[in-house]
Amino acid sequence: MTGLEQKLENMDSNHAIEIAPRIWWVGHEQKDDPFQCHVYLIEQGDQSVLIDPGSKLTIANTLRKINEVISFTSIKYFVCQHQDPDITGSLELIEKLICRDDAVIVTHWRTQMLLKHYAVDIPFWLIEDNDWQLELQDRTLSFCFTPYAHFPGAFTTFDPKSGIMFSSDLFGGLTDEFSLFAKDETYLECMKPFHQHYIPSNDILQYALSVIEKYPMEMIAPQHGSIIPKKLIPYMIDGLKSLDCGLYLLLRGTTDLKKLSKFNETLKNITKTMTIFRDFKEISEALFKLIQSEIPIKALDFYVRDIDEDIIYFGKNNHYRGHVITEVPEMVSRVFETKKVSSKEGSSCELYELRHDKVGKNLYECLLIPLIFPDKESTEAVILIRLNSNENDQEKMQRVVEQMIVPLQVSIEREMIYRDMEKEREKIYQRSIRDPLTNLYTRIYMKDVVQKLLDQQNRDKSSKTVAIMMDIDHFKKVNDTYGHSQGDVVLQGVASCILEQCRSADIPIRIGGEEFVIFSQVGLDGAFQFAERIRNHIENIKWDGPVEGIKITASFGVAARQLDETLEMLISRADVALYKAKHQGRNRTCVVE
Ligand code: GH3
Ligand code: MG
Ligand code: MG
Repeated sequence: MTGLEQKLENMDSNHAIEIAPRIWWVGHEQKDDPFQCHVYLIEQGDQSVLIDPGSKLTIANTLRKINEVISFTSIKYFVCQHQDPDITGSLELIEKLICRDDAVIVTHWRTQMLLKHYAVDIPFWLIEDNDWQLELQDRTLSFCFTPYAHFPGAFTTFDPKSGIMFSSDLFGGLTDEFSLFAKDETYLECMKPFHQHYIPSNDILQYALSVIEKYPMEMIAPQHGSIIPKKLIPYMIDGLKSLDCGLYLLLRGTTDLKKLSKFNETLKNITKTMTIFRDFKEISEALFKLIQSEIPIKALDFYVRDIDEDIIYFGKNNHYRGHVITEVPEMVSRVFETKKVSSKEGSSCELYELRHDKVGKNLYECLLIPLIFPDKESTEAVILIRLNSNENDQEKMQRVVEQMIVPLQVSIEREMIYRDMEKEREKIYQRSIRDPLTNLYTRIYMKDVVQKLLDQQNRDKSSKTVAIMMDIDHFKKVNDTYGHSQGDVVLQGVASCILEQCRSADIPIRIGGEEFVIFSQVGLDGAFQFAERIRNHIENIKWDGPVEGIKITASFGVAARQLDETLEMLISRADVALYKAKHQGRNRTCVVE
């Protein structure tokens, strides 16, 4: 702690306080007002300077404190760093007290344009006409243009002698209790709600800070909040540089800056969660907690229509994993049906009044929010919020939900994009692994899945994997006699016969034309019986239509997989057996030992 700070520990804010040689704090501690009013006096004999004179509410106290130091009439320069009434509202009173001709209002032209509407007769001394400098008895003040969103004509004032930067709003804060000096890093928390609220974009702050930080500052003396001592300056500047501003310009319904700031913080966390996690569960749980911090809720459920018009439910019951449901709650389906919106306004929430209490008051058990996705015209999702108790503060619920619509919508929309993409991908994959004529698996599937299966079993001596190759006998004749389409009918009939005989663990594949292979885990003997069973069934199919009465047969070749045998080897051995079966007169099963 420096000597100055120690001295200030015991300061009495009822009196002027000398914060540096010839520089006095002459502000006022406003009770029940988080905006403190700091006015500074630079004592320079009859050339004295008053920085940001204050408002009609504070000027009497300021005048009393000025008089503790010098007579008010010694003040020649009234610096107004911007035009707000809390720092310039006292000008009318000041005008009445001034009894010298050379007193001036020191300001920027943009502020002048506004201050002239007070209709005071004090002349203006414009900083830009004076090379942004004001020469005093023992120092030269330099003005530093720091336009920011609160006011584009704002400037700050640097005193090189003391190293004090009089910063007006730029380092202002909302303090719980009056503290002329910021004690530690926590002052940043006081500045956050102040700026998040005033400034719509961080870029604007960045500009002002980049200008200011070039000065060799010993102290920053703002108009609101607390004075920042040298050791905290870099921390505060860094903190402001990374401040998120303007997020809750979206908010309505509350002017409580602390609340707004807290909400802003949570929104920031939500944004972070949404960028870091892809997982909808984590995002939903974070959103759930956020809503719960404002209104008592039991559950947050999502019902969403996907690309196939299925309704997917995401909620606590399925850990937000999402699954297709056929039974949509009645109140939800009502929202899906009735909310056909054609406007571009987007979604707004609706409270659903479900019952009345004994005295007939409306009680709400649920909140339903229809969501209309940007490129759609109808309700694509419904959010159902189950309320914990009989929450009746309709206005508050409306507000909370309105705040939440954007993050809710973004998160569910993003999840659905992922799911729809996944679904499309799955469809394409299914198309590539299923033969459309017979609905059996294709070669692609064989390479993909059977190969993996064999790899897994490589060291397993007890593996009973077999390949059963089959080929329809004299199939060319069917085509030649009845035409290609009747050939297809026969292929389909044979394939469904194969499917009928297969168990779920068996993998039937159409390898080409009228050739098939089945992979099974039944061992060599079992495979022979399996093949014979299929062969028998095919032989006995009763054909309808143009092919009525014909007899279709097939030949089979069976091989059991040997240890570490490749897929190609296994198939080619089964093929040899099949060739043998054809050679021996067809409609039979041959086995490779
Ligand atoms: P084998 O008893 O020796 O097997 O005689 P095959 O006539 O069955 O033998 P081959 O392999 O010479 O004939 C197969 C025929 O299957 C030739 C081809 O035109 C026909 N084919 C292949 N794919 C299809 C298909 O998708 N639909 C139809 N209708 N015919 C097909
Ligand atoms: Mg054939
Ligand atoms: Mg063939």
